[in-house]
Amino acid sequence: MSRIVMKFGGTSMEDLERIRHAARHIEREVNAGHQVSVVVSAMAGTTNQLVAWCQEASSLHDAREYDAVVSTGEQVSAGLLAIVLQDMGISARSFTGWQVPIKTSDVHSAARIEDIESGLLGKRLDEGQVCVVTGFQGISSANRITTLGRGGSDTSAVALAAAISADRCDIYTDVDGVYTTDPRIAPKAQRLSRISFEEMLEMASLGAKVLQTRSVELAMAQGVRLVVRSSVDDPEAAQVAPDGSNSGVPGTLVCDEDEILEKQIVSGVTLAKAEAKITLRSVKDRPGVAAAVFGALADEQIIVDMIVQNISDDGRQTDITFTVPDAEFDKAMAAITSDKDRFEYDSIAGAKGSAKISVIGVGMRSHAGVAASMFKALSEKGINIQLITTSEIKTSVLIEEEYAELAVRALHTYYGLDKDEA
Ligand code: ASP
Ligand code: MG
Repeated sequence: MSRIVMKFGGTSMEDLERIRHAARHIEREVNAGHQVSVVVSAMAGTTNQLVAWCQEASSLHDAREYDAVVSTGEQVSAGLLAIVLQDMGISARSFTGWQVPIKTSDVHSAARIEDIESGLLGKRLDEGQVCVVTGFQGISSANRITTLGRGGSDTSAVALAAAISADRCDIYTDVDGVYTTDPRIAPKAQRLSRISFEEMLEMASLGAKVLQTRSVELAMAQGVRLVVRSSVDDPEAAQVAPDGSNSGVPGTLVCDEDEILEKQIVSGVTLAKAEAKITLRSVKDRPGVAAAVFGALADEQIIVDMIVQNISDDGRQTDITFTVPDAEFDKAMAAITSDKDRFEYDSIAGAKGSAKISVIGVGMRSHAGVAASMFKALSEKGINIQLITTSEIKTSVLIEEEYAELAVRALHTYYGLDKDEA
């Protein structure tokens, strides 16, 4: 017998019909003899509505009360799912964050899970009860309800899986797995049967919205095997193998790199649009200048993505280029131009409307020439590269937004990721 956590997102909880469908997936696992904990999101759209009400009530609302309000969506879906399961003759009980309890920091609306007491759930699971736990929320040491940030129920599910030593954490969502790229951009995108934690982390932080980035970090740190799969699938037809190897089941296993035998050099291509670039020319080349520039941006809570600085010829001056989201462009320009003397640059230039394209793959660690071939593939399409950054398993370029889709498709084909025509 194994213990599993099943997480259902908002679209899987959208209405009672969908909740009943989710319940049949749960029934299948219960019938297979597993101990099942379920983590749910609020019904689709609910959290947005709750957030909007808080804003409308007061734009300067108290963060503790915001959490009191927005955490309620999950209580509704958890309760409804428990009722539906009971109605099917399955022993089930809902638990909110404070009932488990899921202990978090006190940073309201962006709390971090610190500890999950597993005693109560463990006991109920041993008794054969399905435990339906509200995602996205917990309780602070000050005894107040907290929430984990939007999309946080993925993180709740992974943390719970770690706490109860689950064999697997199945993430049910509205897509049937993790794809080599966005199928809306490249119709030849393929579902990956396996992906490593590290690749998934890059994909998630680069905008593949299947999993909250923090949940992947946590899964990697705790060694929680994740299976991303569709809740729309027919519940009867889709049994995942106990080890998550999911033979024959649509879905993607997110696991340790060692478990992936057929390593691709590149596993995925991602795209982030609406990037703005800012260049500071002839910045003084001495300690503290970069710290001042990026410190000023951090003070404004602006998230900087790519940063490029060259070595100066004469040791006196250099150029720095960085990117921020288009939406933060004006704020970033203001922060840097407000105090030109402090940052000691000659001139500043910037523009919105770039796109960042990245190729990701653990195979890059051991294969030469991935960056070179990426640049070649882009040049063959006449696409100019504005900026380049790399990490161990990723190469990213900034290009003009207009060519973004073309670039993604070209790279997808170039690295042999296109699915075979049937
Ligand atoms: N309901 C929350 C949200 O919409 C948490 C989640 O769905 O993961 O952000
Ligand atoms: Mg989600």
